[in-house]
Amino acid sequence: MGVASFLTTSDGEQVGNPRHLAASAGKLATAQRDLARKKRGSKRRRKAIARVAALHSKVRRQRLDGAHKAANALIRGYDMIVHEDLRIANMTKRPAQKPDGEGGFLPNRAAAKAGLNKSILDASWGVFLTVLAHKAESAGRELIAVNPAHTSRTCARCGHCAKENRLTQAEFACTACGHAAHADVNAAKNILRAGLALRRAAEAA
Ligand SMILES: [Zn+2]
Repeated sequence: MGVASFLTTSDGEQVGNPRHLAASAGKLATAQRDLARKKRGSKRRRKAIARVAALHSKVRRQRLDGAHKAANALIRGYDMIVHEDLRIANMTKRPAQKPDGEGGFLPNRAAAKAGLNKSILDASWGVFLTVLAHKAESAGRELIAVNPAHTSRTCARCGHCAKENRLTQAEFACTACGHAAHADVNAAKNILRAGLALRRAAEAA
């Protein structure tokens, strides 16, 4: 699961972040700022509240719709699905903030918007995994969650783990064996391998 693409499989399939969801998220951020400026008890404030509520439910609808589509595609195509443990993944994917030089962070509109987009994404992953778990159970598919630590900087071919392997957000190039791949596909392969290892350990126990 990622920010550039909503999800990437170890086979190289990508599901993008739905653009309409990002558009609604942007409108919601604007509507919330607009609401904050309205006077208490005013008619304009009531209207602004209604607009924020309408956008919230639109985002929820779009998110659920996207989750069903993405989950259906995986359930149709695979018997076993390994994914990142979201509780751990979220801690490592916060957007970078600019320090204010006094031990805190600078607030800015871009960061606030990125934060909102990020929280909407976080919620999208949560909804997606919930939908996926229900569908996997009723279709008899195996679902495994793994710790995503180091999966993005480890080479899926030789296992070499280094920060330098990750050239950019999208590119992976192993400094030990030269293996080059899309960074998310490389990470997805490591996640699959971790899931298979977990499963073997469970079978052996
Ligand atoms: Zn390598």
